[in-house]
Amino acid sequence: MPRLLPALLLTALCAASPASETVKIVLVAGNPSHAPGDHEFNAGVKLLAKCLAEVPGIEPVVVQGGWPSDPRVFDDARAILFYMDGGSGHPIIQADRLEVLQSLMDRGVGLGCLHYAVEVPKGKPGDKLLEWIGGYYETGYSTNPHWKAEFKALPDHPITRGVEPFAIEDEWYFNIRFRPMMAGIFPLLVARPSDETRQGATSAPRGPYKHIVEASGRDEVLAWCVERPDGGRGFGFTGGHNHENWGDPNFRKLVLNAALWLARVDVPPDGVPSSVTPEDLAQNLDPK
Ligand SMILES: [Zn+2]
Repeated sequence: MPRLLPALLLTALCAASPASETVKIVLVAGNPSHAPGDHEFNAGVKLLAKCLAEVPGIEPVVVQGGWPSDPRVFDDARAILFYMDGGSGHPIIQADRLEVLQSLMDRGVGLGCLHYAVEVPKGKPGDKLLEWIGGYYETGYSTNPHWKAEFKALPDHPITRGVEPFAIEDEWYFNIRFRPMMAGIFPLLVARPSDETRQGATSAPRGPYKHIVEASGRDEVLAWCVERPDGGRGFGFTGGHNHENWGDPNFRKLVLNAALWLARVDVPPDGVPSSVTPEDLAQNLDPK
């Protein structure tokens, strides 16, 4: 054995390494914006990445600051998850970024948006999210109260594998603007807000909104997915305000399963296994 491996042999070894066969999932965290414990995008994304790194064949890549300094990090991604503040300041709608994402979507890259990342302005940004993930939070139409959603039953879908019925308080947005006739939308989490919740006392801007109150008794879709004609997949999840919710095994499993599904990876029969301790939850929190 020579002391130095010939360059050609090294190249061959690298090309054959398992790393080249891993599935890359890019998780993008937004900048700090809220009080401690809320909108902890950095801590949340790193926690999800830690869990995904335990899945054989998955290579999670964390990007901070809302958008990568070099978008080429997306080039070989099979799925991208955005967890950040949205609205008019949404990082994905700045400069030419919708076009960058369009070229990725055209290649069938999966796209998921968590919590405020499902909100973009009506118009072109909203239309793009309708196309890519099936729905978005539309200001004045959707609403964002804090309430305890009770998920009494889960539909049969790879994203719900191993997820048991659960109930949890969060800023669960609802009355999401979906595609007309809910075309192609597969509802994953459905719950019924109480009339008190519909009054919007904790919504911003403050309720009540007439159309929300008048829909009393209606079930609302709080997480969903779509399969796009281009072969790509989309996922929307309106929870994720409270960082501590990532400690809930069902809440967390649904999003981890979604990350695999978006990347067109088989979800294990019992869902993605993961364990998160209180110490894990306390890691990477934004400075107070
Ligand atoms: Zn929030």
